[in-house]
Amino acid sequence: MKETKVTMEKILNLCKGRGFVFPGSDIYGGFANTWDFGPVGVELKNNVKKAWWKRFVQENPNAYGLDAAILMNPRVWDASGHTASFSDPKMDCRECKTRERADNLIEDYAKKHNLNVVPDNMTNEEMQNFIDEHKINCPKCGKHNWTPIRQFNLMFETSRGVTEEGTNKVYLRPETAQGEYVNFLNVQRTTRAKLPFAIAQIGKSFRNEITPGNFLFRTVEFEQMELQNFCKDENALDLYKEFKERALKFVEDLGLDGEKLRFHDHDKLAHYAKAACDIQYYFPIGWQELNGIHHRSTWDLSRHQEYSGKSMLYTDPVTNEKVLPTIIEYSIGADRLVLALLCEAYDEETLEGGETRIVMHFHPAIAPYKVAVLPLQKNLSEKAKEVYSLLAKDFMCDYDESGSIGKRYRREDEIGTPFCVTIDFDTLENNSVTIRDRDTMEQIRLPINEVSAYVSQKIKF
Ligand SMILES: [Zn+2]
Repeated sequence: MKETKVTMEKILNLCKGRGFVFPGSDIYGGFANTWDFGPVGVELKNNVKKAWWKRFVQENPNAYGLDAAILMNPRVWDASGHTASFSDPKMDCRECKTRERADNLIEDYAKKHNLNVVPDNMTNEEMQNFIDEHKINCPKCGKHNWTPIRQFNLMFETSRGVTEEGTNKVYLRPETAQGEYVNFLNVQRTTRAKLPFAIAQIGKSFRNEITPGNFLFRTVEFEQMELQNFCKDENALDLYKEFKERALKFVEDLGLDGEKLRFHDHDKLAHYAKAACDIQYYFPIGWQELNGIHHRSTWDLSRHQEYSGKSMLYTDPVTNEKVLPTIIEYSIGADRLVLALLCEAYDEETLEGGETRIVMHFHPAIAPYKVAVLPLQKNLSEKAKEVYSLLAKDFMCDYDESGSIGKRYRREDEIGTPFCVTIDFDTLENNSVTIRDRDTMEQIRLPINEVSAYVSQKIKF
């Protein structure tokens, strides 16, 4: 059990210092709530996405992948309800021009004063009255001089082409789900899938939110990994329950501590939804949503049927019965999961002799590099490069020949490399190397031609 107190600041410093994540547009002073994944961060994130795809697509005979376009016909967003009601209640401070979300102001106030108020259940007028009655001030300048609440749509707008009528407004998708919904018939027809089946997608979404930041937790541009399960309504609740468990098992298998995970069932549901829950993780900023599982009934397909004029009915091949499928959605943010895994993996250990090492205890399957090849001395580098070339055919490997071996081990610990292969003078004699385990720091000796099989078996997910 680790005793290290993990803070967002420690994670951020390690990320910037070791090349996991950099502030977006860094040399221009950054760009609020955007982040760039660096050399080790991109490997980590890709591995997380691969693990998810393996678990939910590769190992699932009823799931099919999709990679839909980010720009969609604007009618899609009319059908989904996003053009009409995907908005936040915002108000501006007339004194210092800060823009705040009214619901967030009330939530923070309620938390501070131990009040049981749920702004989600309030109308704009009720929120306005609450803020006035309780004299909730601007968190930036401390004054109480708000504009009335206005709803701001969260979709990023852009325009496409120039036609005779002018430009056409289009949106960067605020969620990936609609790509699966509009392709429901295409996928079903080409795969001959029978209900229940799922369409999976990993892709970017964009939301023009005022965010409190918190590093990768909430960003305006983020990547979603999600599975839309299409089923008959009578099977939907069972599937919903099944996915709650599968979603939990996935993040536990990836290394998140079960004590820091919990279900959070929603009391307030969208009008069409029959059940919804989050899995929350105990981040350094407290319990927060990690992923969601939603029973969406037949709402999505019925709306697309209405707006596109195309029948979205599925015909049962045995009974010839025609049904509009119910959807169980399972969705998890790749960036947010990476953040949780970074927080979970981080540890500061005191070694014999009093030295401290920072070590990232990633599951080996998601570690950026699987192996680091380290020649004990520079004059062994020819042999070491040979070993590197051999192993690089199978895994992402790091190569490092600068500094003392102890310093090189520390660097690999900080990026979570599970195995360090050291080339020494015996390697030249008998073609064997030492392999050091990141977590136990124990070393074993193996013939070079057995290293790949040894590592492969350890990094399985
Ligand atoms: Zn202000």
